[in-house]
Amino acid sequence: MTLPATQKVASASEISESPDIIQYTDAETPQITGPHDIIVKNKYAGVNFIEAYFRKGIYPTQFPLIFGKEASGVVAAVGDEVSQYKVGDKVAYMGQKAYAQYTKLSDSSIHIVKLADDATDEQMRLWAAALLQGLTTIALALESYAVKRGDHVLVWAAAGGVGQILTKYVSHLGAHVIAVASSDEKLAIAKDLGAEFLIRTDEDVAAKVKEYTNNKGVEAVYDSIGKDTFDTSLQSLARKGTFVSYGNASGPVPPLSISILAAKNAKICRPTLYGYIATPEEWKSLTDTLTKSLDSGLFQIKYTTYPLSEYRQATTDLEARRTTGKLILEIPQ
Ligand code: NDP
Repeated sequence: MTLPATQKVASASEISESPDIIQYTDAETPQITGPHDIIVKNKYAGVNFIEAYFRKGIYPTQFPLIFGKEASGVVAAVGDEVSQYKVGDKVAYMGQKAYAQYTKLSDSSIHIVKLADDATDEQMRLWAAALLQGLTTIALALESYAVKRGDHVLVWAAAGGVGQILTKYVSHLGAHVIAVASSDEKLAIAKDLGAEFLIRTDEDVAAKVKEYTNNKGVEAVYDSIGKDTFDTSLQSLARKGTFVSYGNASGPVPPLSISILAAKNAKICRPTLYGYIATPEEWKSLTDTLTKSLDSGLFQIKYTTYPLSEYRQATTDLEARRTTGKLILEIPQ
């Protein structure tokens, strides 16, 4: 298949606090230049908060930046020595520069899932919506802190992309989820997913947690908000509790002294998904669990679709806390 010389991408030329820097523009299409290259023609790409951290300079990256860390699509070209994939294969993957019509991968990447040849358009959407956040959820609930039946667990942003799946999964594992979100509408979503206790962000979260746990506090807190919620999360922990700080939606947590953990013999963990999928075995184990959770209907991913040309609007809505569930981008074919 001959690839076009140029393609549409969503990109930014420099660090910017504001999403207004994002452009929908033309860029060179990647081509096969090495024997292990794979070019995927993307169909759907997942929107994640992490793109905002790169754009804002919270996480280092190179500019100009083509956004996008995950997508589903169809293999459009392969290098001479690629044997595991062929043109026409349907795949979902985690990588770089996915907010584009075409993305180059390598056959040495372990972060590719081969989808069935007869995977439907709906399944392609689902994989773009579920991959990164589904794997994150499973790793958080099984590894960062291994949720146990009967635990009380605090989940921030419970109606968000990760938050919805996490609320469902932690409830499924037998824990009592205490969900936090900024509106009654968002809390109603968390309740439907199994949350037993609901707290609005404008309430006294630590006091409510005490009330719901008979003054004990929670065995684990999953905090994706960062700077604004650190103190409240720590106050909400039980003795010997685990603080899982896995995101910075409000900004990074400032440097802290580990002695603040002494009062509760608390543990703190700052995980990233990539640290749990560093080997083929880890990738297989987590993607197998994700596949089962999708096939059984345990994970029912709620997503909203924007065209690739509207990525700026999608992340504007995400960063302004206007969205619930997952956002995906439909790539022009
Ligand atoms: P969400 O859909 O959860 O959106 C973010 C939510 O955070 C908002 O809807 C809002 O919920 C809440 N929020 C609270 N304060 C702020 C603020 N100041 N600005 C913006 N949002 C705020 O996003 P994602 O599902 O994409 O990501 C959720 C979190 O998980 C992010 O922090 C992300 O970085 C993290 N993450 C971490 C990974 C890892 O490997 N460590 C992997 C994947 C995601 P509300 O209005 O209810 O408060």
